[in-house]
Amino acid sequence: MLLSSVLGKGHVHQIPKDGMTKFIRSVAEEKHEAGQPLYVLDLATIEGLMDKWNHSFPNVKPFYAVKCNTEPALITKLANLGANFDCASLVEIDSVLSLGISPNRIIFANPCKAISHIKHAAAVGVNLTTFDSEVEVDKIKKWHPQCRLLLRIKAPNDSGAMRPLGKKFGVLPEEIEPLLHYACNVAGLKVVGVSFHVGSIAQDPTIYREAIANARAAFDVADYLGIPKMQILNIGGGFRSSTSLFEEIAGVVNEAVKDYFPDPNLTMIAEPGRFFPETAFTLVTHVIGKRVRGEKIEYWIDEGIYGSFRPTLYNSCFVGIKPLSTKASEESSQICESTIYGPSCDSLDEVAVDIKLPELQLDDLIVFYNMGAYSKYVGSKFNGFDMLSTPTYLVSTNSS
Ligand SMILES: *Cc1c(COP(=O)(O)O)cnc(C)c1O
Repeated sequence: MLLSSVLGKGHVHQIPKDGMTKFIRSVAEEKHEAGQPLYVLDLATIEGLMDKWNHSFPNVKPFYAVKCNTEPALITKLANLGANFDCASLVEIDSVLSLGISPNRIIFANPCKAISHIKHAAAVGVNLTTFDSEVEVDKIKKWHPQCRLLLRIKAPNDSGAMRPLGKKFGVLPEEIEPLLHYACNVAGLKVVGVSFHVGSIAQDPTIYREAIANARAAFDVADYLGIPKMQILNIGGGFRSSTSLFEEIAGVVNEAVKDYFPDPNLTMIAEPGRFFPETAFTLVTHVIGKRVRGEKIEYWIDEGIYGSFRPTLYNSCFVGIKPLSTKASEESSQICESTIYGPSCDSLDEVAVDIKLPELQLDDLIVFYNMGAYSKYVGSKFNGFDMLSTPTYLVSTNSS
């Protein structure tokens, strides 16, 4: 069975819960020279997060948004734990299928798809997608008429969200009736539900209630138009695992669904991205250069903004930084104002500016925690630093 091979014996190191630092030192020292950063993925964290999800959202099936981190071991682990998948492109679909996961566990959750990608979805049997325009209906009718559709509605504006997507995606309230009519009564396609996505890192839980009320309105329009009863409500992503906001959002969602969708036949799904990988991945970098300027020290490391620290996608305030001196003990060295640069020749390639660090030497390690979301897989090969080739080591921490 393909599914187990990525997580097979020998690939996953069992380590005690407090053994991460020791493990990092051992792989970094035995297997890597400076110039090659590495990732460590703790599969036990993923298990804990799935428990947390199921506890807060017992009736909401998670479709993990693959774009957040396409690490095969992560996807395989999530599949084994019962998650399904949100893919936005042909390549993402194939990367999930190549792990032995069935196409009926995939939603093609991109409301605007190239025809070649739609044809591919039809060929491999991905039969659920989203749409928000007549042109998309025309393309789907021509190339994948059996596909079931979710109408993507515009989510209310969450001014605090890091990546609000309101402008680019989703139909406006007044567009719902004509578009549903066009898709179902004119094109004869099967619209089976409604979907929204509030954007990455929602800050205001009441946004979800508002979005669910808007979804209810779309369901009512469908009833009024006499199209077959819709059954699916897709509440998108936007969740973070590391704050109590998650439980708060879950409370708001569950309450709103009770109020607006009393019908027990409703199927609820979600598209969490960041929620699963963010806290499970640790990035280990090396100090590859150093310059002392007065009181301040500048360091160069082997990972930067063209790799895991993409400034438009990652949010530095979530990242924990821990220097691991490989020589002098870090406790005894002096704390200095420090700046960390990435390896490329772009002067914007700064990872951290004016932070306090104990003085480090060449080849020392700097470890970044909570690095699993929108990191490695948004990297590029700019300047010849191939950030996509960073290896990932798998561990499972246990409490004993
Ligand atoms: C990116 C994306 C997600 C995941 O967002 P997170 O903020 O990482 O949870 C979910 N749904 C859609 C449609 C997306 O584009």
